[in-house]
Amino acid sequence: MGSTGSIGQQALDVIRAFPTKFQVRGLAAGENIKLLEQQLEEFEPQLFYCSVKPDFGYQGKFMPMEEMASHDDVDLIVIATSGKAGLFPTIAALQAGKTVALANKEVLVMAGNIVTTEATQHGVQILPVDSEHSAIWQCLLGEESEPHRLFLTASGGPFYHHSQSQLDRVTVEQALHHPTWKMGKKVTIDSATLMNKGLEVIEAHHLFAIPVDRIEILVHPQSFVHSIIEFADGSMKAQLSFPDMHLPIQYALCYPERLPNPELPRLDLSRKEILSFEPVDYAQFPCLKLALDAARLGGTYPAALCAADEVAVEFFLQGKMRFTDIAIIVSKALEQHQSIAQPSIEEIFAADEQTRETTLQIAHDISLC
Ligand code: MG
Repeated sequence: MGSTGSIGQQALDVIRAFPTKFQVRGLAAGENIKLLEQQLEEFEPQLFYCSVKPDFGYQGKFMPMEEMASHDDVDLIVIATSGKAGLFPTIAALQAGKTVALANKEVLVMAGNIVTTEATQHGVQILPVDSEHSAIWQCLLGEESEPHRLFLTASGGPFYHHSQSQLDRVTVEQALHHPTWKMGKKVTIDSATLMNKGLEVIEAHHLFAIPVDRIEILVHPQSFVHSIIEFADGSMKAQLSFPDMHLPIQYALCYPERLPNPELPRLDLSRKEILSFEPVDYAQFPCLKLALDAARLGGTYPAALCAADEVAVEFFLQGKMRFTDIAIIVSKALEQHQSIAQPSIEEIFAADEQTRETTLQIAHDISLC
């Protein structure tokens, strides 16, 4: 799901590297039908989907994502959509007992309790694809004890030591230039505001059933250590690798096997690589604090946070407002949000819709100033 996005394309790279191990049964994309057509021709799946009317003829069966995710011929679904698009396919897959490799973090941020309950009820594993969560998962394997604390590492993005006035003048082009990772546009901007790290805290809270207050963030500019866990006795484990999403994708797809892949770049620690860590500066990155507040408040706050952030980032990408306005807009939208405790999926979607409207209005007012 989301085959033409950044993670989707890299998942197909992994599949291309192991042609006898995988068979692509279905591909689902949004609006990039040109690339989808190429992917269909190469991988020849029976099932396909796109959110716009395809302008090409293809032999396979056009099928909505929920149906595809629960199809009999499918064992594992890679959810690499963005925003709320992955929510229903994820739930459908879990209910049908299919393994889910999850890259779409909003699925857990918006509806973490519902999604993890479905997974437990149907005895299905959600395999994390996000690099930090893959790292924590790898560190936890073979451990009987629960972790005492999780440390999510953050590169800090391109503006970590910028002053407030420098941040005000950040251009779209600068914000899209991430120092260590190659990613899609939305997540790259979220990495620059550190909203992404906040969303990842909520994701980790649901994936590993650990309270938000036991998840910490460490700025680690080199992005070699993908996360760290600390046990009750003070012992720590970390996972290191070259910052490249193909590795966490491959690990989720091949789990529990670790297979050699000459395409994957390796980390050479004998080159005297310096690994540095520092505490995160919450004052400079208000989006991070907004996300952690939403996580603690629960209810529909995390869903509202995702919706507000998506609208605000889009406004910034269109050059309609400053980089620092993203946090201002999200904060105002959350102030106006009326949360519902233990929401149903319908209530989560309603919160999403309503927050989008509110945020559009706020963003519009700010962009006119
Ligand atoms: Mg990540």
